[in-house]
Amino acid sequence: MTVDVFVDKDLCQGHARCNLICPEVFDLDEHGFAVVLAQEVPPGHEGAVEDAVQNCPEQAITIK
Ligand code: SF4
Repeated sequence: MTVDVFVDKDLCQGHARCNLICPEVFDLDEHGFAVVLAQEVPPGHEGAVEDAVQNCPEQAITIK
């Protein structure tokens, strides 16, 4: 089963917590806002992405 991850750019405030938790999936643009590098979460990173979801203060990250 694959997991897809999305960042709502209208909600993201650029705290960078997601990038600190899982840089393999979340990069930051030149303004510090999140960019999803791999919409389909690479195997083994599901837990880190779940941590990113839980730690995003803006609840901007969703997974399906
Ligand atoms: S933690 Fe949330 S608000 Fe902060 S950069 Fe990541 S997606 Fe954006």
